[in-house]
Amino acid sequence: MQFAGLAERVASVRERIAAAVERGGHGQKVEIVAVTKNHGVEAVQAAWDAGIRHVAENRVQEAIPKMDQATAPVAWHLVGHLQRNKTKYLDRFTLFHALDSARLADAVAEHAATHGSPVAVLVQVNASGEVTKGGFTLEELAQEAAHLRGLTGLDVRGVMTMAPFDAGEATLRATFRGCAVALQTLQDAGLGATELSMGMSSDYEVAVEEGATMVRLGTILFGARTP
Ligand SMILES: *Cc1c(COP(=O)(O)O)cnc(C)c1O
Repeated sequence: MQFAGLAERVASVRERIAAAVERGGHGQKVEIVAVTKNHGVEAVQAAWDAGIRHVAENRVQEAIPKMDQATAPVAWHLVGHLQRNKTKYLDRFTLFHALDSARLADAVAEHAATHGSPVAVLVQVNASGEVTKGGFTLEELAQEAAHLRGLTGLDVRGVMTMAPFDAGEATLRATFRGCAVALQTLQDAGLGATELSMGMSSDYEVAVEEGATMVRLGTILFGARTP
């Protein structure tokens, strides 16, 4: 009964999100993307039964078998890094959140050209300046935005970021505001991007206050992961 009480946790998170939207004053709609990594396929069904419609994994190797087993018709998101030789797997996802380099952008666009429709992506930004974090810095994004716009195989929906682990509130807010600036950079380059994927279990309320339209939640919904 590991997922007993999930519906109550989802309800409580939804209430907290609504309160954070109110405090932040952005008036946005927020989608919960439930991160099932390191949990079995039962987590997907439990999420569906609790009213969740968007589910994420961070590795294709774990996602594909889980997708094959799952019967709940959730929309799948990929939120972790993807190797350039694995772009074909993106066909199975509704949205890829971790487009983290120009070379990967080219590879995804090339894959899309051979498979018909553009691939829906979020550009991962490193808005905290941590050297260990993946993604485009704000400076790199300003340089690359026009190039991204020129790739017809990409449907750039917005940006994603991860805040530093255990950051204080000031750092969190600076990171999330940087992500919003990155979205503006894409819009200024003529991209119709609107999504801000930011906020995890420990910081989603601050992220929503800063305008997040998607929060990626694992631990707070499913409990601690046993790797
Ligand atoms: C695991 C993961 C999450 C969810 O993290 P929690 O702290 O468990 O909510 C969100 N985003 C990404 C990219 C992840 O890998």
